[in-house]
Amino acid sequence: MAHSCVLLKHGEVVLKGRNRGRFEELLQRNLRKALEGLEGEVRIRTGHSVTVLTGSVPVERMVERVRRVPGFSVIQPAIAVAKDPETVAEAAVDLLRDRAPATGGFAVRAKRRDKSFPLRSSDLAALVGARIQRELGLPVDLTSPSVEVAVEVDRDAVHLSVERLPGQGGLPVGASGRAMVLLSGGYDSPVAAHRAMRRGLRCDFVHFTGAPYTGPSSAYKAYALVRELTRYQPDARLHIVPIGTAQRSLATAGAGRLQVMAQRRLMVRVAGELARRVGARALVTGDSLGQVASQTLSNIATVDEASPLPVLRPLLGWDKTEIMEEAARIGTADISRLPDEDCCRLLTPPRVATGTTPGQFVRLENRLDVEHTVEELLDRAQVMRPGRDERESVETARAGAVA
Ligand code: ATP
Ligand code: MG
Repeated sequence: MAHSCVLLKHGEVVLKGRNRGRFEELLQRNLRKALEGLEGEVRIRTGHSVTVLTGSVPVERMVERVRRVPGFSVIQPAIAVAKDPETVAEAAVDLLRDRAPATGGFAVRAKRRDKSFPLRSSDLAALVGARIQRELGLPVDLTSPSVEVAVEVDRDAVHLSVERLPGQGGLPVGASGRAMVLLSGGYDSPVAAHRAMRRGLRCDFVHFTGAPYTGPSSAYKAYALVRELTRYQPDARLHIVPIGTAQRSLATAGAGRLQVMAQRRLMVRVAGELARRVGARALVTGDSLGQVASQTLSNIATVDEASPLPVLRPLLGWDKTEIMEEAARIGTADISRLPDEDCCRLLTPPRVATGTTPGQFVRLENRLDVEHTVEELLDRAQVMRPGRDERESVETARAGAVA
């Protein structure tokens, strides 16, 4: 009766005391969403901070999906066997037979979540260990084994596994509320979004294009990025806002070296209103302190002063190389790498003022009539829902990328 399954260990949810019920519910809902569309049947069973997936879908396919779901700390492809010590020992031998390490020894780690099981964990481990030693001739090494056999006694079965894959960790998406991510086509903001999701923020997105003065390439990239990121949360809205005309107006109003920061202030105002409409209570950006001229401490303060909502900057202390590596790991780097026409490079003066203060923007923003401009931009905003798709997201982006 042995059959394959996947064990998902719940991460920080376990620590959440009174809120635990709500967290568990979100985790299960996100999990079901992540498994949607797989060919075949998946059964989900949960108890004692572990979720077990079984069914006709191949284990690798299930693992691929659940590795992207925040809230699960460890993922173990496993086999489930009947709750009888002899059967367990035999199954452990079978499991290790194909995977016996060429050098080094093995260890058995047993855990008993079902306390009614007749053997204590240590006795079960000893029994299984002795059998492996005898039948496969492998040495025991409890301090630095080459392979570890996990034996976990649950209510319906005993689960055996030799592989522990890292899950996303963090909190279930939605547990911390909602946020609006300012998404450019670069490397940083998608990584920031992923960090926000991992801390339980359900994210929607806004991307500003230089239209009508630039082509659609950056919007294609934003679309592809959001689609890639919806592997970590069930779905998301993407707002596309053409800001080119407003950029021109700022330039005409004499923004000069304040141009880039004036654009940023405009962006957070528009993003703040879009956020309010979807019930988001914070903005998220990909800023990293001091990375470029627009991200000095004074310029960060200048942006915050214009923002109607708190601006979260998950990458504040990250180096560019760390961000690039993470982008590769989460799957957004190949999209970010594609060329585009970034609205921020349109009309920008060669040098950006690094030490701005909010006061410097009062006259400029009055001349522009900033409230009216924000209204106009909101009127032009388009909403999309980049869905999950089996096609590579990078293909979508490439289709619209400039040559
Ligand atoms: P990124 O790699 O995310 O583009 P960056 O290093 O290029 O960041 P900036 O261009 O200074 O840095 O942008 C800082 C942040 O401002 C971005 O991470 C993003 O959150 C936001 N932002 C910049 N341009 C846009 C845009 N066109 N649309 C939406 N948000 C933007
Ligand atoms: Mg950028």
